[in-house]
Amino acid sequence: MTARIQEGSAQCPCCDYYALQERGGFEICPVCYWEDDGQDLDALDTVSGPNHITLRTARQNFERFGAADAAAVSLVASAEARYGLRREQRATYF
Ligand SMILES: [Zn+2]
Repeated sequence: MTARIQEGSAQCPCCDYYALQERGGFEICPVCYWEDDGQDLDALDTVSGPNHITLRTARQNFERFGAADAAAVSLVASAEARYGLRREQRATYF
């Protein structure tokens, strides 16, 4: 049986799942593997220091293949593990 991801009070800026305990705490999101350096949708095109890519690219990556970065595809939680996890998808216009 797959362990479910525990719901957090904070929303990941990349995958929009509530998978973080707080914002800006450099937690690595278990859903998409974005490291939360506090960046959000108001800075979509700024390259994130710990993630080495922009949040816009990471969000596109998550929509395409389910991880913030191609290197993290094998590390992210399975669809089963994130089943039922709260998500409020935010629109960004690419
Ligand atoms: Zn995430």
